[in-house]
Formats: sequence, structure tokens, C-alpha cells
Amino acid sequence: MQELDDQALLRYSRHILLPQIDIEGQRRLLAARALIVGAGGLGSPAALYLASAGVGRLTIVDDDTVELSNLQRQIAHDTASLKQGKAESAARRMRALNPAIEVRPLAERLEGERLMAEAAAHDLVLDCSDNFATRHAVNRACVRAGVPLVSGAAVRFDGQLAVFDSRDAASPCYHCLFPEEGEAGDGPCATFGVLSPLVGVIGSLQAVEAVKLLAGIAPPLGRLTLYDALSGAFRQIRVPRDQGCPVCGEK
Ligand SMILES: [Zn+2]
Repeated sequence: MQELDDQALLRYSRHILLPQIDIEGQRRLLAARALIVGAGGLGSPAALYLASAGVGRLTIVDDDTVELSNLQRQIAHDTASLKQGKAESAARRMRALNPAIEVRPLAERLEGERLMAEAAAHDLVLDCSDNFATRHAVNRACVRAGVPLVSGAAVRFDGQLAVFDSRDAASPCYHCLFPEEGEAGDGPCATFGVLSPLVGVIGSLQAVEAVKLLAGIAPPLGRLTLYDALSGAFRQIRVPRDQGCPVCGEK
């Protein structure tokens, strides 16, 4: 593993002061590869925190361009990035925050074998997308590749977060919690209202779980965290693996 030079020791000093991370954990972060699917409301804070935390290789995927209605909550972009690609716009901010890491923007909709290959080429995937079709596709790719998935969602005043790791026999997958059959259509979250800082809360929680996992701190598997921004309350519910799940269950 790479040695940390003086600049790196200073940049990451507040991580290194944490006994749970220390120099060893920071080295792990610098050696880690994370794939961020979506450079919108959740992806913005998640990507910025992973970059500032020193996750060494980050791929950020989004085929969309920055629109005026995005700027209320998608804080990786600004007024000067209107009409530009979201992946490139976010990558620019990530590199400005931390020039020492490698940022790879992908302006495409990752599907099928491309999605599989990208998931398998990373240590962790963050699902920061805004629709169920992508969530299920990303989940299938992560289960098949045996790569942990940090999933977040936010709409109106409600946020949710879960970490899945199919390598752990007790961990459910996204499909165990949200079977595809149960969903009425695929209304993109773009058509609902969403409280601006709510996506910041959930995207930041995704970054918390991602940094912990990549630094070697065990994630909370088998639990779904729900945040109600109206009441200000967090609650966690236990979610078991569905033995009959067509994605992660026994074939
Ligand atoms: Zn499952």
C-alpha cells in the first residue's frame, strides 16, 4: 500500500486521529475504488464527501445534463454548469476538492453488461439514482459481482438508507426489501417534490457508510434506516434476507 506523504498526512489528519480509521484505514481509502451511480441530489454530497475523504478512485455516472430545476438540491453543480453534463460537472468539483484522487466521469446510462463490468471493477457501489428500474439493475449487478451496495432514496420529506452485501449470508438485497412486482409503474422521482437538504442528509449518510466500509469498519447490514424530515425522527427496521428472492436467493 502507498505511503502517505506530508501533504496527505495533513489533508487526512482528522481521519488519522480517529482510532477506528488511523493511517491504515486512510491507506485503505486511498486504495479503494467506488462507483457512484447518479450525480444528482444524492450523488452530489456523496461524491463530494468521498472525494474529500480521499477515496482514491471514483467513477461517477450520469447521462443527464444540469437543468435550472436541479440546482435547488444538486449541490455538486452550479449556475455556471447549466446545460453541461452532470458527470463531468460533478467530476470537476471533486477534482477541485481533492486533486490527489482519480475521478472518472461517465456520461452514459449504464446497463446490462456495461453495468455488470463497472460494478465488478469497483469495491463498492453507491446507488444515488432516482428511479426503480436503475435501482433494481444496480442491485442485480452488485449481487452478481459480489460487491457491497449503499442505497439511498429521498422524496418529498422522506428519506431512506440501507447497506447491502450479498457476500454476507444474513444480508438482504434491495430486491428482498422492494420486490419489483410490487411497484406501480416507474414514476421518476423528478416528478415529485423534494425538500432540498433532505437529499443532502441521505447522500451524506450514504457517504458515511461508504467511507466506513472502505476503511474497514463493519456496515449495518439487514437494517433499513428511515428519516422523516417533517418530524425530524430517524428509525431503523430490521429486514431479513428473503430466501425466495429471485436475485440473491438460492437458485
Ligand atoms: Zn434479495
